[in-house]
Amino acid sequence: MKICRFDKGRVGIVEGDQVKDVTSALEALPPLRWPAPFGDHFIAHLDMMIPKLREAAKTAPALPLSQVSLDTPVANPARVIAAPLNYPLHVQEAANPAINHGVHMPAHDGFKTPIDKYGLFLKSQTGVIGAGQKVVLHWDGRRNDHEVELTMVIGRGGKNISREDALNHVAGYCIGLDMTVRGTEDRSFRKAADTYSVLGPWLVTADEIPDPDALDFGMEVNGEVRQRSNTASLICDCRDLIVRASRVYALHPGDVIMTGTPDGVGEVKSGDVMHAWIEKIGDMNVSIA
Ligand code: MN
Repeated sequence: MKICRFDKGRVGIVEGDQVKDVTSALEALPPLRWPAPFGDHFIAHLDMMIPKLREAAKTAPALPLSQVSLDTPVANPARVIAAPLNYPLHVQEAANPAINHGVHMPAHDGFKTPIDKYGLFLKSQTGVIGAGQKVVLHWDGRRNDHEVELTMVIGRGGKNISREDALNHVAGYCIGLDMTVRGTEDRSFRKAADTYSVLGPWLVTADEIPDPDALDFGMEVNGEVRQRSNTASLICDCRDLIVRASRVYALHPGDVIMTGTPDGVGEVKSGDVMHAWIEKIGDMNVSIA
């Protein structure tokens, strides 16, 4: 199932080029009381909600996808966890000082798995937007880059999750754009600006993607090909990233894990339109304001 959020708070099921408005199904969610648990209330109840969404879809009005504004498929991410330097060809291109600025040195000193050296990092949850919003550049005159990444959304929390069980904790997948400015600041600063984490176009439930480590994906900017890869080239694959993250942080429903970007990262400027796509998920156009 492809579940979207659109037009400021509505929930839809995407079928072809249409969205079925199933917002009425949200009435089945139990009320939230303070203090709210960490994470996303809808994703936490997704297993219970899917039959309700299906039922609502039978009589739901259908809207053309082209006429709705897509919001982030995860309304309240517990965290946005991200992987640096996780494709071999991106590790190579990051040897360019224009990318690493002499601080975030690439793994040209013999590291086959840069994440062993650098670990994962966190982006701000409040920097998340959907495909219908625009990326607002925050560092005028500096190199602001796109990074397209397969993104996992955690459905069932847990600590010290095993490799064998890892994908059972995934609610679904979406496209993530890990926007960044190149420079000397810490990743958690450069990549956490408002609008610098684009999630979309919708959540594809995990049953539709039995093997997330074999997906073609890519990105064009203004029609020019920038990134092309397959998630089979991930250095730390999806299961491994869940294992590594959950060893350090107990995962919560609605945690978002961006798996890393392949080679071809490049600059975007005001007015550019990014087109990102991942096999079995879909595609989205995202504009730079
Ligand atoms: Mn990235």
